[in-house]
This record gives sequence, C-alpha cells and structure tokens, in this order.
Amino acid sequence: MSDPITLFQQGCEKAFDEEHWQKINYSTGCFENSFAKGKVNYRNLDLEKQRAYTLRNKSLLGLEKLLVDFETHFVENGGKVLWARNADDALTMIFDLIRKEKANAITRSNSMVLDEIELNGFLERKNIRVVETEIGRFILHEGKQKPYHPLAPSIHLSKEENNAILTGSFKLKPDSTVKQMVNFVRHEVAVESKDVPICITGANFLLSDVGGVVLTENEGNILKSTSSARVHIVVAGIAKVIPTLDDLAVLLPLLSLHSHGQSMAACSSITFGPATTGQGPEQVYVILLDNNRSELLSHEKQRKVMSCIHCGACVSVCPVYKNIGGYSYGSKHIGPMGVVMTPLMAGMEEYSHLNAACALCGKCVDICPVKIPLDDLIIENRHLATTEKQGNARFDALMKTMVWHCKSRKKMDGPIFFKKLEMKRLLGPLWGNSRPLPEFASKSFSQQWRERNL
Ligand code: SF4
Repeated sequence: MSDPITLFQQGCEKAFDEEHWQKINYSTGCFENSFAKGKVNYRNLDLEKQRAYTLRNKSLLGLEKLLVDFETHFVENGGKVLWARNADDALTMIFDLIRKEKANAITRSNSMVLDEIELNGFLERKNIRVVETEIGRFILHEGKQKPYHPLAPSIHLSKEENNAILTGSFKLKPDSTVKQMVNFVRHEVAVESKDVPICITGANFLLSDVGGVVLTENEGNILKSTSSARVHIVVAGIAKVIPTLDDLAVLLPLLSLHSHGQSMAACSSITFGPATTGQGPEQVYVILLDNNRSELLSHEKQRKVMSCIHCGACVSVCPVYKNIGGYSYGSKHIGPMGVVMTPLMAGMEEYSHLNAACALCGKCVDICPVKIPLDDLIIENRHLATTEKQGNARFDALMKTMVWHCKSRKKMDGPIFFKKLEMKRLLGPLWGNSRPLPEFASKSFSQQWRERNL
C-alpha cells in the first residue's frame, strides 16, 4: 500500500481532474438512473430492505452453525469444502489444486474476494496464466491496471482508452466501435479459455440448507467458463452464507436492483456440486475464507458491515469516490463499505487514513439494501483509531505542529509573509497544486479586535 500522504495527494489531484470527474460521474450517474427506474417495481422497498437487514443479521448471529450445515450439505452433494484462515492459506489450496490438475492456466470471474487474496499476482509469479473472463477486467488485465469499481472495473477508462489498450495487444482497428470491441473481447476470451481446466470464481451467497453456491452475472462468462472447466474453485468469505434457498427471494432481487437497476441479473445460477449429467465441472471446491472476518465479527458494532451483499451501490453514490476515484483509497475494498471493513480486517494502523475518506453525508446509508449504518460505523472506526492511538503518525505530527503554531500569539500576530511560508510548508504538500492555499487577512483577529474595541 502507498503512503497515506501520497494517497491523499493522489486523491486531491483526481478531485481536480475534470476529465476523470466527468467519466466517473457519467458512469455512476447511469447506475443511479437505472436504480431509480428499477425501484418502481417495489411497492414498499423500505419494507423489503428491512427484511433483508433482519435476514442478514440473523445469518451473522448463527454463522457457525450455518457454515457447518453448508459444509455438510455441499459434501453430501459431492462437493468439497476447504477452510482457509487467511489469504496465504487460500492461495496455497488453490495452487495445490492447480498442481494436482497439472494445469498451466485458469479462468476467473470478476470478484472482490479474489482481489482480496491477490490471486492474479500470486498465480503469475507461479507462471500460471490467468484469463479474465469479464470484459472490463480482460481489458484492464491487458493494460496491467487494477479494478476501479466493484461492478464496473474499468469505469475510469474512456472508449478511446479501452481501444488503445486493446490495439496495443491485439490486431484490432484503432477506431473500433464499442460493439466491435465487446465482440472482439468475447471472441478472445473464448479462444484463451479453450481447454483451460480450472475456473475460479467468488460467490454471491452460500445456501446453508441445500449446500448451494449462488452466482449472479450479466455477461454469461461465469456460466460459460464453469461449464467448460473440469474443476470449479469457489472462494467465498465466511459471511456469504445465508440460511435457506427461500431467502434468495428477498436478497437476489435486491442485489440485482442495487447493482444494475435490474429486476434480476441476466444470469443467476446455483451450483450444488459436481455435474451429474456429464456437462459441467467434475469437481467443485468451496474455499471458505476467514481472513480476519472473525476478528471483525468480534466488534459488537462494526460487525454489521459483514451483512454487506456487495451490490456496489454505496460506492456509486459516494461523493468522495466520485471525486477521488478508486485508486486513492489504497485498499482492495473501496467506497464506504471498504472504508469500514478494511481497517478492521487489514489493520487500523496501516489503513486508518481511510477514516478520513468519508463526508458523513449519509447517501450510502440511504441506498444500502441491507440497511448498514455505514456513517455510524465510520464514526466508530474513527473513535477506535483515536482511543487506540492508531492514527497516522505523519498526520498526527502535522496536527500537533499546527496546534503549536495556533497557540502562539506571537506567531498568529506575526507578519503575513512568515504565516504564508509556514502554511505552505505544513499544509502545501497535502493541499495539492490545483487550488490556491487560503489567504491570510492583513491583520490577525486579535489585532483587529484590539484596534476596534480597546
Ligand atoms: S454496504 Fe450496502 S450498499 Fe454498500 S455494497 Fe454493501 S450492501 Fe451494497
């Protein structure tokens, strides 16, 4: 992760990059419009959200039993369940399975949990070819870039930039239309995935009562790659489990609405284990990943964030995200839910800068389909960082120096030239080049007061 000050400066630069602002606001605006159109299908959306909230909280409270039941039923269906304490465990398990299959390539889906364990980097270091099957991700992979948004990974790229990446790697006309690019990528994915024996995906939900893995998508790439692979490996955070198949009736439409404004995602499937009809994977493994989720569950208040169904809606409405973009967070999970989760899962000391990436406007709370009080949780994280003294050392030093200056009457009443110099020295590096530093009045407040009143 980059240094917090560097991330802060990067965020400032992005906030003043008009082209970036237009691209992000146009795309997130499309998400918001789709949501506004889609929500008219609900007579009482708030009631449905309340149901989802209750259901997800119930799931978290009974997590241990639900996970054990899921394992029992999934194994009964012929699948295998592996338990990973952390990312290293999960990667070792995946690599062992790849070696067992003597594979030199895998296909993968768009999944935040696969990014969390840094799957691509790990496999590439082991000389295993990674084929991204989602269109946006395929292009990013070619351009050696990371995802910018959980639902639309290449949201920050214009049509021309997408085209430039593709023409840099493939024989594609530089002035291709969007349709031509999409068709080309689909064709390339099909060619590159041919005969790849292993497909790795995340999971939207795990069904405890029937031992099922729920996967939703809009491009059909997951269905395609899982049906042609011999082995399907699912990596799922332990909080993904829900009690019953019936619960999907509440959660799936809410997920689809809050992701893309749809009544239902174009392709939703449930994998119960290996194929029984001869078509589909012969082996299905589910890796249940903890990676400090248990630690997060031990926080009485912040555990609510584990109800997240990863719809991405809070990211799309967040004014901070719209201004600073996806990379300035310096974390795998971004936007309001990332701001709450990351410091608790990956360490407050390293990620306390995320506590500042929120304007407490409450837009994320209003839109969240499972009613997570994200703003309260961010305040709680700030409180935790302060009481545990886990703020950023450089920020703390800066604030102490500022306080020291402000407490000195001599300095406050001193010549403007020195005040400007000090301001530039202390605040300048954080302020960025795109906006002028605040101007000082010719005389301090105290001087003006004395002149007028004494
Ligand atoms: S916190 Fe809520 S709005 Fe944000 S991704 Fe999770 S479920 Fe969606």
